[in-house]
Amino acid sequence: MATYVIVGAGLAGAKAAQTLREEGFDGEIVLIGAESERPYERPPLSKEYLQGKGEREKIFVHEPGWYADNDVDLRLGTKVTRIEPAHHLVRLGDGSRQPYDKLLIATGAVPRRLPGPAYYLRTVDDSEALKRRFAEGADVLIVGASWIGLETAAAARAAGCQVTVVEPEPTALNRALGPELGALFARLHASKGVNLRFGTAAAEITDSGVRLSSGERLTADLVVVGIGAAPEVGLARDAGLDVGQGVLTDSSLRTSNPDVYAAGDVAEFFHPLYGRRVRVEHWANALHGGPAAARSMLGQEVVYDRLPYFYTDQYELGMEFSGDIEGHDEIVYRGDPESMEFIAYWLRDRRVIAGMNVNVWDVVDDIQELIKSGVTVHPKELSSG
Ligand SMILES: Cc1cc2nc3c(=O)[nH]c(=O)nc-3n(C[C@H](O)[C@H](O)[C@H](O)COP(=O)(O)OP(=O)(O)OC[C@H]3O[C@@H](n4cnc5c(N)ncnc54)[C@H](O)[C@@H]3O)c2cc1C
Repeated sequence: MATYVIVGAGLAGAKAAQTLREEGFDGEIVLIGAESERPYERPPLSKEYLQGKGEREKIFVHEPGWYADNDVDLRLGTKVTRIEPAHHLVRLGDGSRQPYDKLLIATGAVPRRLPGPAYYLRTVDDSEALKRRFAEGADVLIVGASWIGLETAAAARAAGCQVTVVEPEPTALNRALGPELGALFARLHASKGVNLRFGTAAAEITDSGVRLSSGERLTADLVVVGIGAAPEVGLARDAGLDVGQGVLTDSSLRTSNPDVYAAGDVAEFFHPLYGRRVRVEHWANALHGGPAAARSMLGQEVVYDRLPYFYTDQYELGMEFSGDIEGHDEIVYRGDPESMEFIAYWLRDRRVIAGMNVNVWDVVDDIQELIKSGVTVHPKELSSG
């Protein structure tokens, strides 16, 4: 009987296990996770769950009994310390070894850190620790005006905290959305009473707050750092697999070793549409990448070519984003951005390369079709719909 081992019991790992069973795999599935919780989804941790609105049970990928019911050997609180591809086995923290026929690396990412006392937001424990501090109406300083920093700012404001955000870029979400749309998010937060400090970096975190690169000191009860995440590639690198920004795979999510696959935040996969490898640190990529890797492990023909997709909720703004703005030369709007109900299209040579729908729903499929088709469009047609 074949044994398939999945390292990393997050969304990608859990969804891969589910797909293996749904596709009829009747061998052994071992799902190994370093955390003590069964697989859960992270987006609520900076949104409704952080705001005390969502129930804890709702964050989990499966019911507690699902793993036993589906004969998935879920080993929590267990760290894989080494992958030995030559021997087809992984070594565990307790010194034991687990053989595999095929292996999926779904180890995700960990927050990038700064020296000094600060809070980070990756796990359910992190979210609960912050929620307790927010409830005290604290003075909160957030380092980083990207997705997690801004969602955390919104949650802190909802809890009645005073919030300052420090960001070295000229505006919020500058790299993800560019200055024009990034500024829209900055204005939204400013209108909610968030003090935004752009063009300045946190040089040092201290017990009383932050020292900025300009030398100025900002005091705060607590500092939250949201400056991005680093993929957990150590195991793969030590195992001699090809690693770049993430664990390198082809478009079927197979690594440089034919019996080892990678999916989710940790994978840098060849994307046929872009003609290069991409790494996507978003929920939908774990949701779909895990199953794609599972099918690939089963020997099915897989070309994983989903477009990068992301969503966020901040105050009364809900949005979905598809594609990649890199290299755009024009932005076209359908609807008025100031009304907070619109679609923005990023174009390159009159072709749509990315789209963002803000408080407009059921349009993602159409936007993604437009991006994938590569057809030339006329801005007037786009803006009038
Ligand atoms: C607070 C927060 C909010 C987010 N909000 C959004 C959002 O609104 N929209 C969006 O699109 N995306 C969002 N994301 C991103 C999204 O959650 C991630 O892309 C997704 O969790 C990736 O899933 P994954 O399974 O690849 O990795 P992870 O969820 O990181 O899971 C990997 C697991 O592997 C475990 N692991 C690592 N190394 C080992 C080892 N050696 N042995 C055993 N286990 C190991 C880790 O402990 C972890 O549990 C958010 C992320 C965070 C942190």
